[in-house]
Amino acid sequence: MTAHANPKNLIPGATGDWEVVIGLEIHAQVASNAKLFSGAAVGFGAPENSQVSLVDAAMPGMLPVINEECVRQAIRTGLGLKAKINHRSVFDRKNYFYPDLPQGYQISQYKSPIVGEGEVIVDLSPTESFKVGIERLHLEQDAGKSIHDQHPTLSYIDLNRSGTALMEIVSKPDMRSADEAKAYVTKLRTILRYLGTCDGDMEKGNLRADVNVSVRRPGEPFGTRCEIKNVNSIRFIGQAVDYEARRQIGIIEDGGTIDQETRLYDATKGETRSMRSKEEAHDYRYFPDPDLLPLEFSQAYVDDLAAVLPELPDAKKARLIADYGLTPYDASILVLEKESADYFEAVAKGRDGKSAANWVINELFGRLNKEGKDVTASPVSPDQIGGIIDLIQAGTISGKIAKDLFEIVFTEGGDPAAIVEARGMKQVTDTGAIEKVIDEVIAANPDKVEQAKAKPTMLGWFVGQVMKASGGKANPEAVNAMLKAKLGI
Ligand code: ADP
Ligand code: MG
Repeated sequence: MTAHANPKNLIPGATGDWEVVIGLEIHAQVASNAKLFSGAAVGFGAPENSQVSLVDAAMPGMLPVINEECVRQAIRTGLGLKAKINHRSVFDRKNYFYPDLPQGYQISQYKSPIVGEGEVIVDLSPTESFKVGIERLHLEQDAGKSIHDQHPTLSYIDLNRSGTALMEIVSKPDMRSADEAKAYVTKLRTILRYLGTCDGDMEKGNLRADVNVSVRRPGEPFGTRCEIKNVNSIRFIGQAVDYEARRQIGIIEDGGTIDQETRLYDATKGETRSMRSKEEAHDYRYFPDPDLLPLEFSQAYVDDLAAVLPELPDAKKARLIADYGLTPYDASILVLEKESADYFEAVAKGRDGKSAANWVINELFGRLNKEGKDVTASPVSPDQIGGIIDLIQAGTISGKIAKDLFEIVFTEGGDPAAIVEARGMKQVTDTGAIEKVIDEVIAANPDKVEQAKAKPTMLGWFVGQVMKASGGKANPEAVNAMLKAKLGI
């Protein structure tokens, strides 16, 4: 429990300030080709009930067989969360009735999860971060899906998702605002993507959050929480927290108490609604699944996975700052997606890191944003951007022409150096050619020449005219120096 609440996070009520307390349970679909206990394929968009084995359909007598790849992915995720890996864990049956859960129970892990306590460093800004504790991570099966909107009187069941492996990642109640909750999910999703253990695609339901919210007076013990189920976008998580906190504050300030319950977030109305009062663990009658042995592996198995874990965002950010002299701001943007950082490093190799970051972030990402594309769909390769940077560096083109060149490469493709050659985009450093343009500009503007003698700041106007007349190709430094001499200022 924090002794001092951050004043920035306090919510003013009618009777004084409140603090919101948030803990998240994230369901992340394990990146794997097959289900947790069967060989059936997983994957989005397959025809209904085409990825269902007899195990997933819960045919009598079918036995689950653990998929080692899912175990490996859960351990790798645990390592990425700096968490305790439990060498022995147990699968339990969590009993409940859903029409799309043919077994009548979900195989999950209750008292002995595969991963224990860990932590995530969450970034609030490029230079500000805080820690969220991880309570546990366990493996469990997903249910199928009921479809109610395809027939006026019937509901359909699609079991494609049935048995798909999920990691449930439970945080400690360490977040204190909607922004902190959003930043946590963003960071967790980035880590999962770096690890390749979950694609983090919230639109496809591959990452969803149960959002636990309570409120309290600063410094007081935690209040009663409500759990908002299955929120499937980061923006909605923030909205649900804000709405739910205000709802609870309103009830308490009116003299009421909060009932622990399960709610859902209605994004179209922007409100949370009660689904059911919170069930207790004993309602599920958890017991160890008699079809499955406890899951056991050695420390050597874990060590082998740890040895080849990829570099994660925090380490990558620190390295980009140290190795390429980037600002924390640029580095934090580049590490948001591993693909962005990889792209940057391909451009920066053997070049000035800061110009590479500037070109990748401001020019490329800016342009990709306009097209609604991400870096993996970039029509411009790192080599092409690198080629443009090299041309500026060598003084072959000016910074202004470089932007035109980038646009050509972006829309038409091609080798930057060849384009510059073919289209005559080279910067003019030939003093004779520049002098000719300067003389023309001076001859055409005798009045301005007189003014400039009295007012040397007019130089800028002349530089502009000469650059324009040269089609942006004159070397600006040469133009400046020669103009000064000619105008005698
Ligand atoms: P359950 O299965 O009952 O939902 P879990 O232990 O799986 O319980 O998850 C509880 C979640 O609720 C955790 O993320 C935890 O951080 C969060 N939590 C616990 N107490 C509070 C509270 N008072 N306010 C907000 N969140 C809380
Ligand atoms: Mg829960």
